[in-house]
Amino acid sequence: MSEDSLSGNTGMLPMVSRSEEPKLNVLLLTSEHTEFLWLQRLLEQADGIVSLTQWCSDLSQLRDMFSQKTYDVILWDCGFRDEDPFVFLGFLSFDSDQTPVVCISSESEANLSKAIFQAGGSDYICKSTITSNGLARALRNAILRHSAEKQQETKSHIDTLTGVVNRQVFFDRFHQSILRADRHEEVIGLVLLNVDEFSGVNDRFGYREGDQLIKRVASRLRQGLRKSDSLARIGGDEFAVILESLDNTVDANYVAAKLLALFEEPFDLAHHQLVVTLSAGVAVFPDAGPDSESIIKNANRAMLDAKRQQGNSVEFYHQKMSVAVERELELEAEFRTALRSEQLRLFYQPRVSIANNQVVGYESLIRWQHPTRGLIMPDEFIPAAERSGMIVPMGYWVVEQACRDLAQLQAFGYDDLVCAVNLSFRQFYDKKLSETVFRIIYNANINTGNLEFELTESAMMYDQTYTQKCLKQLTQLGVSFSLDDFGTGYSSFANIQQLPISTIKIDKSFIEHVITNTDDEIIVKAIVSLAHNLQVNVVAEGVETEEQLAFLRHHHCDEAQGYLFSKAVSFDAFLSFLEAAKANAIALADS
Ligand code: C2E
Ligand code: CA
Ligand code: CA
Repeated sequence: MSEDSLSGNTGMLPMVSRSEEPKLNVLLLTSEHTEFLWLQRLLEQADGIVSLTQWCSDLSQLRDMFSQKTYDVILWDCGFRDEDPFVFLGFLSFDSDQTPVVCISSESEANLSKAIFQAGGSDYICKSTITSNGLARALRNAILRHSAEKQQETKSHIDTLTGVVNRQVFFDRFHQSILRADRHEEVIGLVLLNVDEFSGVNDRFGYREGDQLIKRVASRLRQGLRKSDSLARIGGDEFAVILESLDNTVDANYVAAKLLALFEEPFDLAHHQLVVTLSAGVAVFPDAGPDSESIIKNANRAMLDAKRQQGNSVEFYHQKMSVAVERELELEAEFRTALRSEQLRLFYQPRVSIANNQVVGYESLIRWQHPTRGLIMPDEFIPAAERSGMIVPMGYWVVEQACRDLAQLQAFGYDDLVCAVNLSFRQFYDKKLSETVFRIIYNANINTGNLEFELTESAMMYDQTYTQKCLKQLTQLGVSFSLDDFGTGYSSFANIQQLPISTIKIDKSFIEHVITNTDDEIIVKAIVSLAHNLQVNVVAEGVETEEQLAFLRHHHCDEAQGYLFSKAVSFDAFLSFLEAAKANAIALADS
């Protein structure tokens, strides 16, 4: 990849007309020297149509030859190699940057020609019928056809393989977007994404599978975008995304990170599980430059920077980086050391049974005790942890710490409390999730029946089969599951029926206005009633007032969690809270 590849050059072959027919550079691919001499002679006899014929007998030399020289057409003897000729044809077409290929062999046309065309070959000639003029005509026609196809492709705005717009449209559209953004003082982001090691995929699986991969990369990218964003394929293995009307510069980086995150899941290619990584460069108008050209150039520069790193990385164009971006990136970098430097803390917030006001469990909530910035709340660093992949080791630390503290509580005689631990959907990217959790629980020596994992719907949306498998394995250990933030996003009772979910937690946004907003009141009542029909326990989150608690009690909600009882506090403070609650209950029972 070089910056030149963004120059807008369509790579068209020279036009061939009858009046001034340029001579052709022909690459002859055949393992036999005698065959080469025979073909060379046939071409020479065809009235000087060739200026150069070059022989290649060894596949391993091909890549070098293409990097040094371009050919107008390739003449390939299909008996050239033992491997599947169609796979090789794909490889040839890709490596030669789609130079037209005319195939010859001793097979009759009826057997081979159709398959050759389907595999991308330009023409097929049977050796027994070959003549000097016929060969010359076939070569010229292949070039003409190829050039016409290229023109057609440029004319139509859609990239035929992926169905997204092509580079020409992208350049026009981006230019227009910048002009508009300039008029309305809007922020526009550009993300350039390049598939890492794509040529290796072609080498290994052939051109056709490579095409399939590009198609699927495009469709994954599309999944991660809003309707207003536009995706374009601007090179063989390169995509561009225009992010219209951004709120701020940081957003562009988030989108790029979100897009890359879609690639942590492997592709199934030719029955192989293949992890494909992308490198992304982000530049934002007006910070990164005054016009479309400079933004493209700087995004490309950032992308090349990202390429130097190891797979799935995003680089942001730096020069005029805003303070927010800087802080965000700094936080992300610092978080990497937070875990090692023991700066993470686990706080606990009680869950109370509404029927009898007893503490029945608690939720474990992470905090970051930053050496200079003080206590940082999870909403500030979890997105960074998710982006950087640190969420996985962080998640295991949380499970480990929660188990250690649970064991302590059990030792103090609190052996019925349910300990809830949050699991981010990103933790399901880790294919060793249940195995690792099992190991942690096993070593902690706790009663697994007291452990509950809180999941959000996104975990189920992401990879249902894998999630289901993990949940099943962990359920067998005695662990239970709850559905967090219920009512937001894609909430559906279907998930509850399909998965071993024993509790749902109604999102605090519904509880907040449950007394004043009729819609929220109806939703909360409906969730409780539907959940009970499915024998699922219901916890209301964010309960702050006695009124809310009375409403929930009236409508038979099972448990409540919120500031009304306690904020999330350190382990010691939580232990004191439990002691006080116990003393209070004893005093109440005595009176
Ligand atoms: P969440 O799982 O929905 O956690 C509940 C959040 O609501 C907590 O915020 C809690 O402190 C807050 N909250 C509790 N009661 C009240 C209340 O009465 N009123 C209001 N306004 N808020 C209340 P927190 O601790 O800041 O956590 C925020 C989010 O961070 C959590 O939302 C959870 O999604 C995530 N998180 C926290 N700890 C972890 C963790 O260990 N792993 C993962 N993956 N995510 C975590
Ligand atoms: Ca939660
Ligand atoms: Ca929640």
